Amino acid sequence: MKPLKKDIRALTKEQLREFFVKNGDRAFRGNQVYEWLWSKSLHSFEDMTNLSKETREMLDTNFVINHIEVDSMQKSNDGTIKNGIKLHDGLVVESVLIPTDKRTTACVSSQVGCSLNCKFCATARLKRMRNLNPDEIYDQVVAIDHQSRLYHQRKLTNIVFMGMGEPLMNYNNVLKAIDKITSDEGLGMSAKRITLSTSGIPKMIKKMADDEVKFNLAVSLHSAIDEVRTSIMPFNETFPLDELRESLEYWYAKTRRKVTYEYVVWKGINDTKEAIQALVKFCKYIPCKVNLIEYNSIDDPQFQQANDDALNNYISNLEMNDITVNVRRSRGKDIDAACGQLANKS
Ligand code: SAH
Repeated sequence: MKPLKKDIRALTKEQLREFFVKNGDRAFRGNQVYEWLWSKSLHSFEDMTNLSKETREMLDTNFVINHIEVDSMQKSNDGTIKNGIKLHDGLVVESVLIPTDKRTTACVSSQVGCSLNCKFCATARLKRMRNLNPDEIYDQVVAIDHQSRLYHQRKLTNIVFMGMGEPLMNYNNVLKAIDKITSDEGLGMSAKRITLSTSGIPKMIKKMADDEVKFNLAVSLHSAIDEVRTSIMPFNETFPLDELRESLEYWYAKTRRKVTYEYVVWKGINDTKEAIQALVKFCKYIPCKVNLIEYNSIDDPQFQQANDDALNNYISNLEMNDITVNVRRSRGKDIDAACGQLANKS
């Protein structure tokens, strides 16, 4: 049996340089190949025109270039584009391009499926199959940047890790992908334009703070009362709000950067006075802002968007306490591309 070829994009630049030296070439050749693979996103050795034919053949005998493919594309009336992304092993994730007046945002996935079991999220209905590799995360951003240029005549400005999966359960690969996205040898984007959204895993939030990451942090809070939060986000039982709070205080002490709390208000779940008071209290621990996200239905009668009165109560109470609050309307709802709706329906 022929030995399996290795994915060349799993190699660091240094490993690529060493490979060439071992094969009697110059280390510099590694830099050339690295540039083709990352900043130029080439998918074939054949097209690496500054390499000799022998070198290209030698690479082809030793390696494959695993890459993603945009398998399906749906366009919403509001300009949002949802992509079904096929991975090299046939599994599919979704990523979304979200255009607004001033920005184009890529919403990317970090895992195939998700192992958390948030009751209101469509992705939770998919089994977690595997983590995405750094290149698979990076490639989603590249694909959406291309679409942004093609359909909206401007480049991508922002990235949010709010697609499928829990990014902090695939921390190392997410970090490697962000390194490539922000590096001049990759896309050269500023980390300030990247937001990682987590359901809130305290140990990992502390690790991020220790790693001095430069991107923004958003936490899907949805309730500041343990009992309620556990009922809709069962892992809260293992990582209760006190631990989450402590990790966020640690984050702020180290980074001095505000955290965004994502919050959906549901009828009969968290539309009470007590719920609002608990959120206001939670918001006082560290500097933060609240994004009130519109609920995107996943056809479960238990979950229904609260009425405007409840939302207005939240807004006035938060503002009265000098806490910044934004209301985020959904985008791409008509194509199931909005937050929490990514479930590989097609
Ligand atoms: N696992 C990460 C990132 C993916 S979810 C996290 O939990 O943050 C991205 C955001 O969509 C989260 O804030 C999540 O709470 C929210 N979300 C999930 N399902 C939703 C739904 N049906 N309607 C609105 N927002 C939803």
